[in-house]
Amino acid sequence: MVRGVRLVILGRQGAGKGTQCMRLARHYVVPHVSTGDIFRASVKAGSEFGLQADEFMRAGTLVPDEIVVGVVRERLCQRDARARGFILDGFPRTAAQAEGLDEMLAEERMPIDVTVNLDIAEEDALARLAARRVCSTCATIYSTSRPPAINWTCDNCGGEVVQRQDDTEEAIRKRLADYNELTTPLIDWYTERDSLVHIEALGSPDEVLARLVCAIDDRKGA
Ligand code: ADP
Repeated sequence: MVRGVRLVILGRQGAGKGTQCMRLARHYVVPHVSTGDIFRASVKAGSEFGLQADEFMRAGTLVPDEIVVGVVRERLCQRDARARGFILDGFPRTAAQAEGLDEMLAEERMPIDVTVNLDIAEEDALARLAARRVCSTCATIYSTSRPPAINWTCDNCGGEVVQRQDDTEEAIRKRLADYNELTTPLIDWYTERDSLVHIEALGSPDEVLARLVCAIDDRKGA
């Protein structure tokens, strides 16, 4: 079996993080830890925490750092992540989250193998987000140009494929602006630690996956 890995995937909304992280998770047999998916699942479950997260998400604003760091810590301490590793998608998004992650991984002795930035220009990201559709059950991502085979029914699980409630033009612009302001500085943070790899996000999902696996294996010395 292929060796596991501990990865952080950065990239602005629309870069294809969700799509690629699902594929990478299958390739390396590690859990895909998407903070957005975790929050959407708790909204769907109607928990009190979900109600709180829903307000932030609908407005396109970030969930407070302490809450997100706590949620990620709980997930990374589970058995599968400890045994094989994990792929972090959508976290960290602020300097405080990056520091929180660094501390938690040092305490748990789980160093990151590779941090990847999926590079995409803002205009290309906007076009992809307007076309994005997602399975409301398993979170598989589609687009109006790459729909499921049958009538917006997920190819993977049969769930309903819909447009995300926070994929309105206003919320998208807010998220991209927050990314530029709060998340872009993390590129320098990881560059200084010499663990950042840049990957071009344009191209078919298969092409981008091949680029990612090649760069990750190269860094891991596999
Ligand atoms: P996108 O990348 O398009 O913003 P995500 O699915 O990653 O979509 O996140 C959806 C929403 O979940 C965000 O707008 C935010 O409200 C919340 N969220 C996800 N990850 C984080 C995080 N690391 N910090 C704060 N809020 C987050």
